[in-house]
Amino acid sequence: MVIIVESGAEEQTIQNLIEKVSALGFTPHPIRGVEKTVIAVIGPKTQEKMELLEVMPGVEQIIPILKPYKLVGREVKSEPSEIPITGDLTIGGERIVMMAGPCAVEGYDQLIEIARYVRSAGGHVLRGGIFKPRTSPHSFQGLREEGIPMALAVKAETGLPFITEVVDVRDIELLHDVADIYQVGARNMQNFALLTELGKVDRPVMLKRGMSATVEDLLQAAEYVAVEGNDRVILCERGIRTFETSTRNTLDISAVVALKRFSHLPVVVDPSHASGHDWMVPALAKAAVAAGADGLLIETHTRPQEALVDGPQSLTPSAFSRLMKDLEAFCEAAGRTI
Ligand code: PEP
Ligand code: MN
Repeated sequence: MVIIVESGAEEQTIQNLIEKVSALGFTPHPIRGVEKTVIAVIGPKTQEKMELLEVMPGVEQIIPILKPYKLVGREVKSEPSEIPITGDLTIGGERIVMMAGPCAVEGYDQLIEIARYVRSAGGHVLRGGIFKPRTSPHSFQGLREEGIPMALAVKAETGLPFITEVVDVRDIELLHDVADIYQVGARNMQNFALLTELGKVDRPVMLKRGMSATVEDLLQAAEYVAVEGNDRVILCERGIRTFETSTRNTLDISAVVALKRFSHLPVVVDPSHASGHDWMVPALAKAAVAAGADGLLIETHTRPQEALVDGPQSLTPSAFSRLMKDLEAFCEAAGRTI
């Protein structure tokens, strides 16, 4: 349920309410919106407890949350969340956040070369898998521990924030200094132990939609992170499995619209994994902006034909720069900046 706090309630009144919620055995999650403060109340409720809360000073209304996800839904927070990443970079506001880089960190030289052109083309965040979840155990699994100092050096040199995938609970600590955003891959979207641990970190988490997960499944996975106290969750649509064979996955553009309606969390679209083809990426990126996405995750490589992973879907430096330029007009038409 959610307690709507009376407009203009004193801070002390809000604190008293939060304490009362805790004293009754619930977990309070205060959400301070522009116009209203609400307190999401998580835990099994009884009529008696509800009545005790209803009479508390400062309570305007108590309403049940009907959806299976609570904290990440619009029922507790009607305006979109703008999530801080690093410095003054945020996601979920006016700016479309461009995250770009190789599928995998392959070495220092490879990463610095890509990072430099991503930055000069106007990219905001560098991506790169240090640990790679691969369908086959025989495929390249990423540089793993060896890749961390390389990514740290590239971050220091370019000043770009870095997003990288955490595949296992045991790697959260290991990646803490290098990851400005922890990415949870599609294959791990319902790894609930991992989600729970990521709910305790002081970093944003980008959660990629599982290839057979519904929008509601994705939102419930996001709830696992939020309920532990980390409200910096970013959702990512990266294509789902369908019968279609002309693309690697099928970009579910309507999911972007649905996620934005049902949740206040920012939504990123990954047209690279959705399509599997470099030539499709620009058109899908523009469609994502039109659908209301708050950011894009784009794979790019200096020499895609030599990439250890996902070369066919990686944009060359010139294709990436062209996309950045072309997106300007689309962003403007959507009332956004880039
Ligand atoms: C990736 O971003 O490189 C990746 C592995 O994506 P996904 O989890 O969406 O397959
Ligand atoms: Mn990839």
